[in-house]
Amino acid sequence: MNSKLKDNNTTISYFKEEIERFVKERRWTKFHNPKDLIQAIGIEVSELSEIFLFKDISIDTIQNDKDILKNISDEIADVFIYLVSLLNSLNVDLTSVFITKMKKNEDKYSIDEFYDGSYRKL
Ligand SMILES: [Mg+2]
Repeated sequence: MNSKLKDNNTTISYFKEEIERFVKERRWTKFHNPKDLIQAIGIEVSELSEIFLFKDISIDTIQNDKDILKNISDEIADVFIYLVSLLNSLNVDLTSVFITKMKKNEDKYSIDEFYDGSYRKL
């Protein structure tokens, strides 16, 4: 895998193709169905949440503790990988659904009504 790739020079297609290749090479396509992928996402989100369970971990703590940041990053990657595999299994174009959903959010949470930083309408 190309280690020179970063967020600012890659695409969603790259992730989709890499994950599809990884799954196909192992003949795991039968396991990467929507139901199992959604459950896997939930499990990985729980693993991410577990890092914080019964602890008071602030953003300062995370930024100053490389082990915690590495553990969090690993779980974020797990969630992302399963999420992208779900996109693949459903043949969903993330950019299209992102644009549609952001437009809905722009309409639902207008700046005029939420400019004060609250989550409630004025
Ligand atoms: Mg995990």
